[in-house]
Amino acid sequence: RYDGPLADEVLAKRKKFLNPALFLYYKKHVNIVEGKMQYLFDESGRRYLDAFAGIVTVSCGHCHPHVVDAVVRQTKLLQHATTIYLHHAIADYAEALVAKMPGNLKVVYFVNSGSEANDMAMLMARLYTGNYDILALRNAYHGLSAATMGLTAHSTWKHNVPQGFGVHHVLNPNPYRGPFGADGTKYADDVTNVIESSTPGKVAGFFAETIQGVGGAVELAPGYLAPVYDIVRKAGGICISDEVQTGFGRTGTHYWGFETQGVVPDIVTLAKGIGNGVPLAAVVTTPEIASVLARCLHFNTFGGNPVCSAAGHAVLEVLDKEERQKHCAVVGDHLLKRLHALQEKHDIIGDVRGKGLILGIELVSDRTTKTPATVETLQLFESFKDLGVLVGKGGLHGNVFRIKPPMCFTLEDADFLVDVMDHSMSKL
Ligand code: PMP
Repeated sequence: RYDGPLADEVLAKRKKFLNPALFLYYKKHVNIVEGKMQYLFDESGRRYLDAFAGIVTVSCGHCHPHVVDAVVRQTKLLQHATTIYLHHAIADYAEALVAKMPGNLKVVYFVNSGSEANDMAMLMARLYTGNYDILALRNAYHGLSAATMGLTAHSTWKHNVPQGFGVHHVLNPNPYRGPFGADGTKYADDVTNVIESSTPGKVAGFFAETIQGVGGAVELAPGYLAPVYDIVRKAGGICISDEVQTGFGRTGTHYWGFETQGVVPDIVTLAKGIGNGVPLAAVVTTPEIASVLARCLHFNTFGGNPVCSAAGHAVLEVLDKEERQKHCAVVGDHLLKRLHALQEKHDIIGDVRGKGLILGIELVSDRTTKTPATVETLQLFESFKDLGVLVGKGGLHGNVFRIKPPMCFTLEDADFLVDVMDHSMSKL
């Protein structure tokens, strides 16, 4: 039984004491007071199926006992001392994390958020190459810090302040809306064009998510990254994969999103699901690239602190022990099949896409013009919640449902989710 403050009281305090930039998802607010694996519970004890995992953050499941135990054990021993002293947790965890990486991606810098990780990747790319210009995709989201707001390519997330110096956005290889459909190689030509027209012919780096998260679960067209990595490296740049949403086996077929495109990046940034809910992020790179940061003092107070390292290490153990990558493939395939069938039934579904447990459903009011069905998306979104299912929404026009549940999501959960969608869409 929950006996804490109720929604109205929380809302009133939030309005009074918190920055109004904090936005709420639902018109009728949900006061979440407890979480257990793929379920969330509100103040009245009502259970919701969480198909968004706190924006793809809760990888193992809410309050997964193994992660909680690791955090509690470490918290009781030593919460924090910083990296100016030795502590085994950060070193053990770094060793375990890089064991998951291919090639020479063997050195980690831990930070606290995805924005910080991408900030650091930008810095390393510039220091290492001696070049300044950076390429990113349109429709990308890489954070909202002063530097990464410029990498992010959605007007909805951009303040009217100077930002993005030296950042150039290339054509998004979006198979559904892009001019070249699913032909990845054609979009790669635009990278050459932008380097030739908008930079000194040299670049520091190229950023991409392999499935754009905030952008609406947009999978990069197949065959895109391999030629782009070649083009970027020929122009003196390094390649950065933002795995903040796609990492840790969520795609089902591979542990890292970049592997789905058959490339090995020079820097990988990680956040969100890496810590199952604790503030943790990482920049993984080669020893050679990592060394540039040591040219002057560099410090991050909480980065890789013992408690967060213990959590991150426990996450890796859970994902391995419970074979979550395989599970994501099985449940994701089933979910995709059912969503494709739903698309046959409901004209409003323009596109179903994604891999494993990172899926998107794009709603359009007309399949030919692909006009975003923004109003209907909102209406359905509330209806899913009323029926006990929480999903994400995204895309530049807010017309994409994002399905990214904790990786313990079952076949039965998938069926319930699709049944709820079907029911709500039938009522539109
Ligand atoms: N990269 C990606 C792909 C993201 O989705 C996000 C957050 N939505 C970030 C970076 C920024 O992460 P954070 O909010 O932890 O700064």
